[in-house]
Amino acid sequence: MRFDIVSVFPEFFAVLDLSLIGKARERGILDIAVHDLRDWTDDPHRSVDDTPFGGGAGMVMRPDVWGAALDDTLGDDGVLAVPTPSGTPLTQRMCEDLAAAGHIVLACGRYEGIDARVADHYEESGVRVVRYSLGDYVLNGGEVAAVALVEAVGRLVPGLVGNPESLVEESHGAAGLLEYPVYTRPARWRGLDVPAVLTSGDHGKVARWRRDRALEVTAGRRPDMIEALPAEGLDRGDRRALAGLGYLVPAGAAHPLPASAREAAASDVPGLADLAARTFPDACPPGMREEDMRAFVESHLSREDFSRYVDDPGCLTMALAVGGRILGYALACLPPDGAVAGAERGAPVQAVVDGRPRSGPLVELSKFYLDRRLRGTGAAALLWEATRSRLEEWAAPWPEAYVWLGTNAANERAQRAYRRLGFRFQGQRTFRVGDQDNRDAVFARPIRMA
Ligand code: SAM
Repeated sequence: MRFDIVSVFPEFFAVLDLSLIGKARERGILDIAVHDLRDWTDDPHRSVDDTPFGGGAGMVMRPDVWGAALDDTLGDDGVLAVPTPSGTPLTQRMCEDLAAAGHIVLACGRYEGIDARVADHYEESGVRVVRYSLGDYVLNGGEVAAVALVEAVGRLVPGLVGNPESLVEESHGAAGLLEYPVYTRPARWRGLDVPAVLTSGDHGKVARWRRDRALEVTAGRRPDMIEALPAEGLDRGDRRALAGLGYLVPAGAAHPLPASAREAAASDVPGLADLAARTFPDACPPGMREEDMRAFVESHLSREDFSRYVDDPGCLTMALAVGGRILGYALACLPPDGAVAGAERGAPVQAVVDGRPRSGPLVELSKFYLDRRLRGTGAAALLWEATRSRLEEWAAPWPEAYVWLGTNAANERAQRAYRRLGFRFQGQRTFRVGDQDNRDAVFARPIRMA
């Protein structure tokens, strides 16, 4: 791989004699030639700049001097890399691409930059020109950006980095994530311990922990990278970790989508009613008649009903928005006097959960629905945790408070899901839709878990 660097400060590039890049040059893996732009001037002052056409501050680098320098250095295989704050932000993908080029010529600007015709001219004559930026800030010259590119591209050249494995998992690598945090000896430093899993010797657990941390760090600092992850590359563990970080991958979605559960507002009513109409049949027993289901939706789950629920201080309506659409909701009835909600609907007044008999108020979780595409995505835990935390605020005056729900006795999947959320079976009740009696399994749990 050959780099030609053209600059008015060739001495700046002494850094390229150091470390891995220096060693790679010695071993002939990288061939780096640094040129003084002034060698292509033909006036006694060796001047490379002139005042800008159109006026304004500063000086502009002359196209004739740059043209002479680049004609001599580009050859017929050179890619012209021009550092400029108005370029495309340099990324690992661009570096991977450039590493395949074989010969890169770097044109380091100074002052107000290089006359715009230089890059245009080479581009028009068929040279590949890459205008790149190190970031959204302005440096005095292109030298730092040239060193950055040589180092980032150079380390991808086979043989430069001793252990090629270290290129795979690192930030911006094939995983599309930032790297997990890394640690070394001593295991305890200034009272801070290395995470225990890393000294456990369990390689599977270490791998999972690292992947989870990489997802966490990326979600915190670069949510754009999470939203660009291809869904097909995400395993169950990834999806669980992402749900905990506020991203869900609905069935059929190409990428993780940001998800948040919050108390519903008036503007959510149409979305809530649409979702409720779509999901109500999912929870009904197999034999239920279409018209009964429709009548129930019209009398309990219309837009007017949801407007009322959202306004009613005795109701807690939660909406789960995924990628900006409401794909889940929960509705809880709060007992006005801190007693029992839904006593007439079979509330388990004598509930006992994990050996603890109920005391304090009993909230009814009257609805808890998710769009089908969210099954198995961790959405239930996300919606439940937000609902539970709002219920906990509501229940602040009582040291203990419980929440109960009824779900179709034939729906094993829903019952398993509620068990996973900490609900425990209490018995059965009968629930009437149209002229049919349906059996519900009744579950309860404390709002706060010990
Ligand atoms: N007037 C130019 C502008 O506003 O775009 C800035 C010129 S800057 C002072 C001089 C040189 O520093 C540029 O020609 C470029 O080579 C380099 N430079 C400055 N900031 C850079 C950045 N963020 N990325 C890459 N190169 C940069």
